[in-house]
Amino acid sequence: MILTPSILYTIVATTGLMSALLSLVLYFLKRAYPKPIKGLGDWALFPVLAFFASALYGMQGKWHHLISMALPNLLLVLTMLIQLRGTYKYFDIPVNTKLIFGIVFIALLLILWSSGKSEYYLHRLLFMTGFLAVMCGAQVKVLWKRRREGFATKLLVVTLVFMCIALGIRFISALIEQPPVGIFVYTPVQAFYLASNSIGILLLSISAMLLSSEQLRAEMVKLLRHDALTGALTRRTVFEYAEDELARSARRDVSFSMLLIDLDHFKEINDMHGHQLGDTVLTHFVHCVEDVLRRPSVIGRYGGEEFIVILPETSKEQAIQVAERIQSQLRTQTVQPTVTASIGVSCSMRMPHDTLDAMIGRADAALYAAKRKGRNRIEVEEMQGDTPLQQAH
Ligand code: GH3
Ligand code: MG
Ligand code: MG
Repeated sequence: MILTPSILYTIVATTGLMSALLSLVLYFLKRAYPKPIKGLGDWALFPVLAFFASALYGMQGKWHHLISMALPNLLLVLTMLIQLRGTYKYFDIPVNTKLIFGIVFIALLLILWSSGKSEYYLHRLLFMTGFLAVMCGAQVKVLWKRRREGFATKLLVVTLVFMCIALGIRFISALIEQPPVGIFVYTPVQAFYLASNSIGILLLSISAMLLSSEQLRAEMVKLLRHDALTGALTRRTVFEYAEDELARSARRDVSFSMLLIDLDHFKEINDMHGHQLGDTVLTHFVHCVEDVLRRPSVIGRYGGEEFIVILPETSKEQAIQVAERIQSQLRTQTVQPTVTASIGVSCSMRMPHDTLDAMIGRADAALYAAKRKGRNRIEVEEMQGDTPLQQAH
């Protein structure tokens, strides 16, 4: 590819403009999201800084070197720092503000010391390359640790690595060749560096947009799948999960169990303490159960003050133990009003294969029996051939 200076200008100008437009989109996304996704503010800012940096670089030879060299270099350091800070915020990593100020201060001193003096060109190149490469590297490290699935993270890593390579090539070539004077002076390496830097900034802002939309999607899925009050799975989600589990356990010829749980005399709690406190009790109850459950077991809200627990690869005996653990966890409640629960247990039959409706029906009958027998107890499904209801507790 032949990169003439005018093509170079066009690349830098158009990618800069696109990045600046994307920053506008990111800014409006930040404002539009109900609970702002973290890091968006920084991600909206860095392409603008990059845009100004490249615009000022373009003024080299025309404007004073402090404006056309020192300032854009500083802006470039800020661009990468703010982009990095956005990523830290996005992943909820604490940002060391003092360190950032320290870096900016040192960069400022070095840039001022070396700007305008062609004999310091290599020094300037060394620390600018060093700064930028360290920031790219720090970010790759963060992303590597998180190992997020999804295209956005991959794009971000590839972009950062690509920018690092471009920085490295530029530095090595400056060591080997006579350093060119001026940023838009045409040499193949300089052209490659400039083009890759502007394309890199554009890709960074595209990654930011993709990351924020991935996060938004994840939040939406979470909202759709979880009951807004208690955080338990919604009825629909827990049923889908149970259907999958039923099919899987039939395929692997193992059993899975479920618990239907209904809080005792909950209406009285509402009547005596108010609906709002009733809501708190419901939420606290779900936390108690979640403390007892281990993955892949889940709790879902069946309706009102009734919950369903799905216990994959769990026998009836193990399910009874889980139910007992839930009840003993409830007995540890100290904050008033405390609540008790009645629990019905059912376990999938292997021959013939069970249906979800039948399992729920049996657990419901067991729950009803627990209520009838005085509440705050566990009852197990009545099986064909079994004499009355088997009592577990
Ligand atoms: P039992 O021991 O027989 O289950 O008695 P109960 O009072 O728990 O059962 P009942 O079905 O008579 O009452 C359930 C109550 O749960 C009635 C309803 O107002 C309350 N409830 C259902 N959903 C919610 C909720 O989201 N928040 C609050 N605070 N109360 C709820
Ligand atoms: Mg109840
Ligand atoms: Mg009920």
